[in-house]
Parts: sequence; C-alpha cells; structure tokens
Amino acid sequence: MLSVDVIKEKLQSALSIDRYIHTLGVAEEAQKLAAVYGDAELVKKAEYAGLLHDCAKDYPDDMKKRFCKEYHVPVDDVMKKQLGLIHPFLGAEVAKREYGVEDEDIIGAIRWHTTGKPEMTVLEKIVFIADYIEPNRKPFDGLEKARKLAYENLDKAMAYILESTIEYVKERNRALHPYSVEALEYYKRITE
Ligand code: FE
Ligand code: FE
Repeated sequence: MLSVDVIKEKLQSALSIDRYIHTLGVAEEAQKLAAVYGDAELVKKAEYAGLLHDCAKDYPDDMKKRFCKEYHVPVDDVMKKQLGLIHPFLGAEVAKREYGVEDEDIIGAIRWHTTGKPEMTVLEKIVFIADYIEPNRKPFDGLEKARKLAYENLDKAMAYILESTIEYVKERNRALHPYSVEALEYYKRITE
C-alpha cells in the first residue's frame, strides 16, 4: 500500500479541489469515529478508507465505463440509470490496483460507502457515516442529528442516514438501489 502522503498527492490530481477537501474531511471524521469504536489499527484503516472512498468519483463518465470493463466491475441496470452509483464499486477496484490496497475491510468500506448493505463491518459503517457527517459538509436538515447519533450508536446512525438518503433520492425521482433498501430494512430492524 502507498503511504498516506503519496496517496494524497495522487488524489489531488485525480479529484476536483472540492472533492479533495471533502475527502480530507471524511478521513478526519472516520478516524475520530474509529477512535471511539475501535483500536489504533482501525484508526489507521479509517484514514486510508476515508481518503480513498471517492478516488474514482471524478473520472469522466466514459472513463468510468471503460475502467469498469477493464477491472471487471459489474454495472447493473440501476447503476446504468444512475451513474453516480458506479464510483464506490469502481473505487474499490481502483484502490486495489492503483493505490495498492490489499486489506479487504478497507476495500469493502470503499465499495459500500454509497448504497450501504446489511451486516456491514464497523469500518464500513464508519466510512458510510463519515461521508455524510464530515466537517466540511454545508449544513443541511438532519446533519446535526446524524452527527449526534454517529457517536452514540453506529447502527442507529446507519438507519437514520439511510432513511434520509432514500427520501432524498425518491424526492428527486432518481433510481434507488436495492442495496440501500435492504440496508435500511436491516438497520431499522436491528435497532428497534
Ligand atoms: Fe462517494
Ligand atoms: Fe464522499
């Protein structure tokens, strides 16, 4: 795996400046959450996963499609309609192949940071949540509640964020991925 400094340099050329700032915010927040819910090793993994979670997001669409073929990333019908859903799955492969990440938990945290899924690992939940609450986010409805829940109970924070995100997607008539629906059902059920 590359060093944090080299990863940051590579990301600066792969991402827009706003996305890079967001990425640093996610890494910072993920490390804070990892310090609450895990050990020093988890904090280190949270830094890498946070930094790399959006590593493929600013690739132009044609490049995303090309790399998905080359890296054997399956693109389903929902992703075809909603191209924004491709970047976590492609990003997981890019992290492996271009940033030398071998740790499956870090790769999973990148892969599941957008849709979520049932039975996520602690690191996967931390990166999903950090993406939503990172310090550079402009204030929006529900942000403070999500921040509070994140430091109380990861599963409750998952349920809350998934519900808000699904509502947002529905309001905009965007395609909703079944992974998110399954994830919401799961986290609601286990926190009730
Ligand atoms: Fe993302
Ligand atoms: Fe992000």
